[in-house]
Amino acid sequence: MGQVKRELERVEARRGKATEIAIEAHVLRVCQFHEDAVYETGGDVVEAYKVGNARYDKDSLGKIFLSRRDMTDHIKYVVENAAMECWACAKNREDD
Ligand SMILES: [Zn+2]
Repeated sequence: MGQVKRELERVEARRGKATEIAIEAHVLRVCQFHEDAVYETGGDVVEAYKVGNARYDKDSLGKIFLSRRDMTDHIKYVVENAAMECWACAKNREDD
């Protein structure tokens, strides 16, 4: 059980870091009104790969991800699974 939990934590850490990279690359965006809502900007995921690769050698990304390929796989995952817009803003609009 402990092993599974640790592996899940590593996956969470990788997805969190991949999201951070995508935000830095302006491929994902944090809603200006809801800081827990992240959604697509329509930017090219390749831009996020570039930011990730540039950071990979410089900071701790190499300790979080297994390889560059692992990093780009996680970036692809978080971008493909991102919402089209902020869910909270969309909900507010529906309530009007
Ligand atoms: Zn919002």
